[in-house]
Amino acid sequence: MAAESRDGALSLLRLLEDLPGERRLEEPLAPYTTFRIGGPAWVLFFPHTVEALAEAVQRARREDIPYRIIGGGAKVLFPDTGFPGLVIHTGWLRHIQEMENGIWVEPGFPISGLVKRGLWVLAGVPGSAGGAVVMNAGTRYGSISSYVISVQTLLPNGTVAMLPSQECRFSYRSSVFREKRLPVLGVGLRLPEEIRPVADLLAERQRTQPLDYPSAGCVFRNPEGISAGWLIDQAGLKGARVGDAKISEKHANFIVNLGQARATHVLSLIAEAQEAVYRSFGLSLSLELEVISS
Ligand SMILES: Cc1cc2nc3c(=O)[nH]c(=O)nc-3n(C[C@H](O)[C@H](O)[C@H](O)COP(=O)(O)OP(=O)(O)OC[C@H]3O[C@@H](n4cnc5c(N)ncnc54)[C@H](O)[C@@H]3O)c2cc1C
Repeated sequence: MAAESRDGALSLLRLLEDLPGERRLEEPLAPYTTFRIGGPAWVLFFPHTVEALAEAVQRARREDIPYRIIGGGAKVLFPDTGFPGLVIHTGWLRHIQEMENGIWVEPGFPISGLVKRGLWVLAGVPGSAGGAVVMNAGTRYGSISSYVISVQTLLPNGTVAMLPSQECRFSYRSSVFREKRLPVLGVGLRLPEEIRPVADLLAERQRTQPLDYPSAGCVFRNPEGISAGWLIDQAGLKGARVGDAKISEKHANFIVNLGQARATHVLSLIAEAQEAVYRSFGLSLSLELEVISS
């Protein structure tokens, strides 16, 4: 790491030193993502409390330090060169509380835990409650937005606010938290009354998705009424490979990491798929994957 980056990382470490949590200097991000790709963050911080998460965001904003929050890392692609700033991991923030009309969970609470509590529509979706809210995660059976009562966030002016669902601007795989990069500090959810066994749903995913290799799920949003995977397949790109990144033969909207894939390989395949689909169908594929630049 260059001396300038090292100084930046050390001063960031000092900025956070009084906050309850664990700090790792120059920590490679690949192990914290389902893609298993990504160079080191200056500092990777695991806050022990939601207040520490909010305070870390506040300080990074004040000092103009680039920052990102991650949960399960199931929808992110970090550069091979890493992230010159602060990455905050919500892994410790997993508290759950019963409410009269549902549950309240901290952002790191796993989606699989929500499924166990009855949110069957998200069966098989990896990641955290915070990431699910940001991405408005969903399956063909429904999205998390239909169950959100309210979300606690930190507004750009530094106030903690409780946004009711209608103010979260949920849309297909997006929300105000994704658009404006607002932290999700907690979420209130109502749970469906109908309880469904999820074994069939998981088996269906096992059959249709390449779950044997690291990936970040679907790379592109489906254009209105058409599957992006079908378009990529029809454009002849199933199985296309750059380095160890490959467009899955099982599901062409997945790029899988065969072992040593780098972010640059994935980005080349993304560009190839977009060009091929545009050439064949005149459609521009937009990204569902969160590509993070350094
Ligand atoms: C095999 C596989 C299958 C998948 N299937 C589906 C599917 O069926 N449906 C679907 O919707 N998704 C699917 N995904 C994608 C992923 O599971 C979802 O997008 C999930 O919601 C990501 O949660 P996460 O905690 O991993 O988010 P991360 O990847 O950690 O983060 C995603 C985004 O949210 C931000 N973020 C995370 N936590 C916070 C927070 N607390 N506050 C503010 N910002 C935050 C990050 O900065 C980033 O922009 C799949 C992924 C994989 C690997």
